[in-house]
Amino acid sequence: MHRTHTTLAHIAAALTTVLALQPATPSPPARLAARALGATPMLSDLRELCDRVGGRPTGSPAARRSEEWAERRLRDAGVSVAMETFTVPALWLAESARGDCLAPEAFPLRVVAAPYSASTPEGGLTAPLVDAGMGADSDFARLGASSRGAIALVRSDEMKTLADLFAEYMRTDPMLAAAKRAGVSALLLVSTRPRGLLYRHPVDTGGQVVPLPVALVSREQGARLARLLESGGVRVKLDLRNRIGGPYEARNVVGEIRGREKPEEVVLLGAHLDSWDLGTGALDNGVNAALVIDVARGMKELGLAPRRTVRFALFTGEEQGLWGSAGYVHRHAAELDRFAAVVILDIGSGRINGFYLNGREELTTWVDEALAPVAGIGPFRHSAEAVDGTDNFDFLLSGVPNLIADQDAAPYLPDYHAESDVFEKVDAREARSNAAITAALVWGLAEAPGRPARQSRAGVESLITRTGLEPQMKAFGQWADWVSGRRGENR
Ligand SMILES: [Zn+2]
Repeated sequence: MHRTHTTLAHIAAALTTVLALQPATPSPPARLAARALGATPMLSDLRELCDRVGGRPTGSPAARRSEEWAERRLRDAGVSVAMETFTVPALWLAESARGDCLAPEAFPLRVVAAPYSASTPEGGLTAPLVDAGMGADSDFARLGASSRGAIALVRSDEMKTLADLFAEYMRTDPMLAAAKRAGVSALLLVSTRPRGLLYRHPVDTGGQVVPLPVALVSREQGARLARLLESGGVRVKLDLRNRIGGPYEARNVVGEIRGREKPEEVVLLGAHLDSWDLGTGALDNGVNAALVIDVARGMKELGLAPRRTVRFALFTGEEQGLWGSAGYVHRHAAELDRFAAVVILDIGSGRINGFYLNGREELTTWVDEALAPVAGIGPFRHSAEAVDGTDNFDFLLSGVPNLIADQDAAPYLPDYHAESDVFEKVDAREARSNAAITAALVWGLAEAPGRPARQSRAGVESLITRTGLEPQMKAFGQWADWVSGRRGENR
């Protein structure tokens, strides 16, 4: 169901809720929230980003255009903007993907390349298909000599929860290692989403192109191939063309509103601007990029300057491995002692139920105090869980207080990185409500008399142990860089 239209009754009710808390003179956060719930340009901005720029993988011409678009939007709002460069370790862009079943029956396959997959040899790759079950080591081992040079079909369970999605990432490294030992020539992964839906599933987030061609095939065709394999004699052709290159320079777009009393102290609101390219990056993460721009615009429109400086960061290189936010942390290392908080949004337009405190329960009181003016939109319940996989992470590693909006993931997951992540999937009502919540939170953190403390490296080390982040950091290719000190600025 699409809910892109906000009813006037809802706006009125929400406005009443917000304003009722401040009956005399509305406070700045109440004014910011009330404005965000009304008719702002946020949704028309998002529509323009999705429909005119479209999918925008970092390193592509579309990414360039999206950065210029965001810069223009912020400048038009009266916000000063810096374009800050960083390095992405490897270029990977999809060019074309074609798949065909050749025997025992001939039919075209719906396939896409997995990001950071190798290309197939010139002219494509034709090989017998073998059934590699769920892609475990034992599944490949069972194939014996038949796996040599074959294309391996790897089944999957249907993805229904955030935990399933994480499991899909967690199985990648061991699967690639098993495939290598088995000597297969390519992997054909069965989509975790039904009804023909294809999506970009990166097979590396540590900045390396894997030496094996890896493609995704539609769930229904994957099932057909698996049935055909029961009698053997299946041959498949894969032709994947990817643009692959070495390190390159990319850009974050960073807006700033100077603090009126403590300009050297910073609250950063961030969302990634880049997206994968099959859809138009509406839920992931255009809606929150538009939200960040609109919170900045709101402060300017209402003539509000908070006590501390607020930065509005539109990171890129997120999908490739959080390179934009990592680059930002590196570039601003000398300033991090003066960062009061970082707030990240990256779960589409699902309602904000609270915030991930990322292992730091002491942040609860800071967040609740900041959210008091919008308590009527709540209730908010925060999670102590530490999350790896979005732009808070290098701030976490550097001890900077960091929050992620804990949004309802159910409306986000089915379209994640998929062809179907498009403008009409965005829930305009919840997006406005999220903008109101975020504006109040950022204002409150920037205005509070004090601020939460930065953690030392030892503090971060114990947080990582306590929250069990190590397996995820290993799966995302971050662990070695953390251990060597290449990631995680510290004092
Ligand atoms: Zn995202």
